Amino acid sequence: EKRLNIVGGGMAGSEAAWQAVNMGVPVTIHEMRPGVETFAHKTGDLAEMVCSNSFRSDDDEANAVGLLHWEMRAADGLIMEMADRHSLPAGGALAVDRDAFSAAVTERLRAHPLVKVEPAEITTLPDDGTWIIATGPLTSGNLAEAIRGVTGQQSLAFFDAIAPIVYADTVDMDTAWLQSRYDKGETEEERTAYLNCPMTRDQYEAFIDALLAADKTEFKPGETAGYFDGCLPIEVMAERGRETLRFGPMKPVGLTNAHQPDVKPYAVVQLRRDNALGTLYNIVGFQTKMKYGAQTEVFRMIPGLEKAGFARLGGIHRNTFLNSPTLLDDRMRLKTHPHIRFAGQITGVEGYVESAAMGLLAGRMAAAQILGRDLPPPPPQTATGALIHHITGGAEAKTFQPMNVNFGLFPPLTDVKGGRRNRKDRYKAYTDRAKADYSAWLAHVPEPA
Ligand code: FAD
Repeated sequence: EKRLNIVGGGMAGSEAAWQAVNMGVPVTIHEMRPGVETFAHKTGDLAEMVCSNSFRSDDDEANAVGLLHWEMRAADGLIMEMADRHSLPAGGALAVDRDAFSAAVTERLRAHPLVKVEPAEITTLPDDGTWIIATGPLTSGNLAEAIRGVTGQQSLAFFDAIAPIVYADTVDMDTAWLQSRYDKGETEEERTAYLNCPMTRDQYEAFIDALLAADKTEFKPGETAGYFDGCLPIEVMAERGRETLRFGPMKPVGLTNAHQPDVKPYAVVQLRRDNALGTLYNIVGFQTKMKYGAQTEVFRMIPGLEKAGFARLGGIHRNTFLNSPTLLDDRMRLKTHPHIRFAGQITGVEGYVESAAMGLLAGRMAAAQILGRDLPPPPPQTATGALIHHITGGAEAKTFQPMNVNFGLFPPLTDVKGGRRNRKDRYKAYTDRAKADYSAWLAHVPEPA
């Protein structure tokens, strides 16, 4: 019998199972809870929401996560069906009654004749069969160790030290300029790989004051192990001395302000290109434990970023994830062990919805493979496609960090009007294009492999 094995019955594993059984492929879900617990899960149910009860915006014309909802509904996704069925009033957001939601997902899957749920922790990577590993940000230690054994020490990260990511088109280029420190690089592209934002002494002092005063989340005991050497949060650096940042990530050396070549900046904030498209930039060295509200306020004090839009804010927390750009192929398979796929947050996406979407895709791809077919990923103009292209190719492998879906991951609109539309019309154009392309992908019958 050709069976699909799925490790982890969370957001991704549950959706993957549903998609596969809908294609007629029998599935075993190996789920360790409730026998083995994680620090965040509270029940033994499948698809438990560990923290907030929100699937975020449900606006499929102006918001990338709303568009992802639309795509998953179009693909008969179980997670969306149950979220809709157990939704709570929440303005434009899709909030969910978490207990009723997971209970309904669990019941639907357990009742399906092609689904088996095995209550067991998987501790090694299987040698044969067809597998999806969807064990999430809190993958058990034993399995994490086994994955590390196969992928290498550096390729499984345990902490997110995330610097904020800014939409390139919201940076004020009358203040900022493109230049790599000491103009390093072989090509023009390399010599201009960074966006630089200059600060005067007064601006720097005011920025340090704001950092020190900002609202922060506190570390939990044990949370700081392992990453503290390499990447201190900026506010911790600022606490060590007012000059620390000026001699660290904000040092002004090797850079000339293109707008005022004669004025030497007192400090410079650098942003590094974060994707191949050049639509996203991360603020170098700015991992932070500041609360989200405080982050936008403080970062918009940086000259050039007064109107910055953030694709994601910074943070530091435990999260197990792969360096997918180097390890996975575009069918979500481990390049060195193609009988194993990964899905969900462990692939380097972030959030319930994104994780479930990667489960949907992995489930369909794995089932297609068992049926002797090859299913390519949806094109990058779709929300699902934008995410999978980012994690398996578009993202910079060296600085890879978990990513939410956002329009910065989409190939820009190429028609003449593309650049000139207002934001609302632009998002509508993105979502119209995505819906057409996603529908075409759904209708496409996969080729025999
Ligand atoms: P999970 O849903 O975590 O599912 C993984 C499953 O694998 C679990 O059921 C686990 O028990 C099981 N498992 C692990 N190891 C093994 C093993 N070796 N053998 C068998 N089973 C195993 N996202 C949001 O969108 N909003 C939030 O507010 C939010 N808050 C979060 C708070 C915390 C503390 C954490 C850790 C994460 C949070 N996330 C949040 C992220 C959220 O957990 C994920 O987006 C989503 O649940 C990931 O789906 P997944 O299927 O990849 O992993």
